[in-house]
Amino acid sequence: MAVRYLFLLLLLLPVSLSGCSGRDNGQAAVNGKVNVAVSIEPVAAFVEAVGKERVQVTVMVPGGASPHTYEPKPSQLRSLGSALLYAKVGSGIEFERRWMARLEKLNPRLVITDCSKGVELLSAPTAKVKAGKEAAHQERSGDGSDAYEERAHTYGFDPHIWVSPRNAVKMVENIYAGLVEVDPEGREAYRANKDEYIKKLQALDKKIRALLSGKRGARVITYHPAWGYLTAEYGLVEVPVEFEGKPPSSRSVVEIIKRARNEHVTTVFTSVQFSRRAAEVIAKEIGGKVVSLNPLERNYIENMERVATAFSKL
Ligand SMILES: [Zn+2]
Repeated sequence: MAVRYLFLLLLLLPVSLSGCSGRDNGQAAVNGKVNVAVSIEPVAAFVEAVGKERVQVTVMVPGGASPHTYEPKPSQLRSLGSALLYAKVGSGIEFERRWMARLEKLNPRLVITDCSKGVELLSAPTAKVKAGKEAAHQERSGDGSDAYEERAHTYGFDPHIWVSPRNAVKMVENIYAGLVEVDPEGREAYRANKDEYIKKLQALDKKIRALLSGKRGARVITYHPAWGYLTAEYGLVEVPVEFEGKPPSSRSVVEIIKRARNEHVTTVFTSVQFSRRAAEVIAKEIGGKVVSLNPLERNYIENMERVATAFSKL
């Protein structure tokens, strides 16, 4: 009788074990956490804000590397095997254009959430679609307008959607939907975390709007055009030095120096991922300075405050 009972118990055991955690299918969870892969650090920050202790985040393009050129390491591809969700930027950033299809093949059960869903994409590199007719008008009436039109046309859309806090709100909503899909048990926790973080992003938006309220039309000369969504949102105008990821021609450097002098611009911004050389040449010519910013900082809110403060001093 006792033996028979034990036998029954053993039969039941695997069933009750697999039944105790709905989301733990195979390698789905690492240390009991939902493994979420992302391309870039700011998206990792958003996933952590919504997922908190329920998630573990794997970043494919480490901070300091460029998502326009980075190739993942074999160890990163292996860690993708345990991911349940991939929160892609979705705005056409090169890393995802080159790698998403291959990553999906490596892990066919990967659920992909597109963070750019609902985000209005702006043309690159001068974000004039939403910068308003005002900024677009300024571009057209200023010198070198044809060159800018042409750049926007050939380069397509600006992929750096996350640098606008309003876009970040939409990205967080998309991440929330993705997390609920792969881990429905966490829905309530995710919703509370998401609401809390969106409040912070809304406060950030208010703060930046106040900081930059007197800066309408200000020129942001930046080596790498990463700030188009931020400048468009708050009425500034981004003037990139780099062109389609390549160093600028000497002709366009001369053009930028001329514009900067005409408009009394004295700061040239660089990103840590790119060379400072061209920026330094321009800064020297206009008697200005180079300020380094990082569009890929993990600490999103503090970083965006730092960037807006730098722009407020223009
Ligand atoms: Zn970039």
